[in-house]
Parts: sequence; C-alpha cells; structure tokens
Amino acid sequence: MKEDFYEILGVSKGASAAEIKKAYRKKAIEFHPDKNPGDTKAEEMFKKAAEAYEVLSDPDKRAKYDQFGHAAFEGGAGFGGGGMNMDDIFSQFGDIFGSAFGGGFSGFGGFGGGGQRRVKGSNLRIRVKLTLEEIANGVEKKVKVRRKVQADGVTYKTCPTCNGSGQVTKITNTILGRMQTATTCNSCGGAGQTIDNRPSGADAQGLKVEEETVSIKIPPGVEEGMQLKVTGKGNGAPGNGIPGDLLVAIETVEHDTLKREGDNLHYDLYISFSEAVLGSSKEIDAVGGKVRIKLEPGIQSGKILRLRGKGISSINGYGSGDLLVHVNVWTPKELSREQKEFFERMQNDENFVPKPEKSDKSFFEKVKDMFS
Ligand SMILES: [Zn+2]
Repeated sequence: MKEDFYEILGVSKGASAAEIKKAYRKKAIEFHPDKNPGDTKAEEMFKKAAEAYEVLSDPDKRAKYDQFGHAAFEGGAGFGGGGMNMDDIFSQFGDIFGSAFGGGFSGFGGFGGGGQRRVKGSNLRIRVKLTLEEIANGVEKKVKVRRKVQADGVTYKTCPTCNGSGQVTKITNTILGRMQTATTCNSCGGAGQTIDNRPSGADAQGLKVEEETVSIKIPPGVEEGMQLKVTGKGNGAPGNGIPGDLLVAIETVEHDTLKREGDNLHYDLYISFSEAVLGSSKEIDAVGGKVRIKLEPGIQSGKILRLRGKGISSINGYGSGDLLVHVNVWTPKELSREQKEFFERMQNDENFVPKPEKSDKSFFEKVKDMFS
C-alpha cells in the first residue's frame, strides 16, 4: 500500500502550490543523500518526497490523484512501481531551488571520473623582426630562448595529498546538506606528483632555466602583429606535465624602397626627362631579386606598371600579389643656357602641347582600378 502523497510531504489536502513547494524543499534538504551518506532509509524518503511533489505540483496530476488516488497512475504513463530515478529528481531541483544549484550536485557516482589532468608549463613570448625579403620568401629563424626545463637528476613521486589524482574533495555545507566539490590539489598544483629529488639549482618544481636555440619556420606572407606558435617550446612542467608553447610575435622592418599594401608592393620609380622622352630600360630591386622593366618612349609621369606575381605570396597560399611600379618623371630644376634656350624654343611647339588620350587615365582613376 502506497503512502499518501500529502502525508509524505506533511501538508493538508487543501495545501496551496506554494505550501507544497515549500514542504518538498524542506524534505529534500532533510533527506538529501549528500547529507545522509549510506542511509538507505533517508534515500527512500528522498525519493518518495520527490515522487509526491512530482504529482502534487502538477495541477492536472494532482486533480487525478485527488479523484482516484494512486490508481490514477498505475500501469499508465505515471510512475508505475518503479518510482523516480535520481536523475529525474535532480533535474527537478533547478525549478525548485533556482539555477544556483544546477549542476552543483555531485550525484552518486563518486568523484575522479575526469581522470588526472596533465599540468602544462607556461607559454613564452618573443618578438621576431623580419625584412620584407624574409616575409616574401619565408625564412627559418634561429632564436635563443631562455626556458624552464626539468633539471638533470630530478625525480618525482606520487603526491601523498591527492594520491596522484591531482584533485581533492571538499565538503561544504549548503541549504541542501553537504555538498562535495573537487578542487585542484594544493600540494601538487594538480599534477598528481610532487618533487622527490631536487637537484641543486632547481626551483621548487624541479625546473631550471636553460638557454636553448629554437628554430622557427616562418611561412611567406606573414604580417606585422601576427603570432606564430611553436608547440612545446615554452616553459617545461614538473613531473609528467607537458611544456607550454613559444608564441612568436611578428614585427617587420621597413623597406627602403618597397611599400607593402596587403600582398601588393609599391615602388616609386624616378626617371629623367630624357628617359621619359626617349624610352629606357630600368632594373628594380624586387623581393625575389632584380626585375628589369622596359619604358616605352613617351611614357607619362604617373603611369603605373603592374608586374604580376612579383609581390608577396599570400599567407593563405592563394598565389602572390603584384609589384606596382609608379613612374615619376624628374623635371630638371637647373638648366644650362643652351638647355634653357632649347626649352624656350619648344614652348609653343606642337609636340610639347599636352594631348592626353583616353588611355592615359587620371591618377584618381588609376587608384580606383588598383583597389577594385
Ligand atoms: Zn596532489
């Protein structure tokens, strides 16, 4: 014969929803398994209270129960003979006690399910300065890094405080009774191991600083402010921990003649007045080596010559940018008497009168093209 749900919670048949909730809360705290470890009678009461609350807190179920008693739920979708399982009960707590307790329960499975965590050493940070040529072609840099490593002769033993689990169980008293929480072991910092033999010169973790030359492979196309990671080249960790990483911040050295803009490079080429008139061939120091370009006779100042693929390789591996050569005609400031007379004669000469063609786009149109 099943006990009466109202009697289990200790409320009258006419109790309000608030009274039922309050009563259940009181029973749940009283019989909570964390508060009564190993007490099967308390656990039984805890389950019964939850079952009673499940029905009486639902107006529809409560009405059926008031009319038909326990028979209303037998064999149907109700509890049958099995009652509620603990997961159901705990999932109900969020509604009753608020989210502060959600997930705070230890359950009944015990602790240590997560296994031992491996402690990781701290990361080290360095900066590397790269020239534009190094960025364009990619480079392998060797840098000296002072990193903590396990000292020669150091040995570790299982931590006696946590028996190697890296965690200790703490019991706290709460509104629902005693709650168990797992915290990182203070003795070993979560490593599960403590130092056994500490060689001279080693710190409390058995580590000492050593200088090591680390090789860093830098791919083409990196930019100022990017960060590369060399896994495992940060500070070491004690015991069977794993070392941290070496984080490499990229800095760039400004180039004398080339300006970078994304993957494109810009170069200002100055040619003489006579080179512009007569045409010329010029050599430019590009990032991949020297590049020779041909200037047609009559080339206009402001013309931009695009050398495809002579820019920076894309860091994503999608081809390369271009080298854009900006042609600037240098106007002489001082002239000999002879030269001056020549240009005076040319002042009204048909050949010296500007006659821009449609193909000689304005500077603004060219800029627009470059960014489109
Ligand atoms: Zn420990």
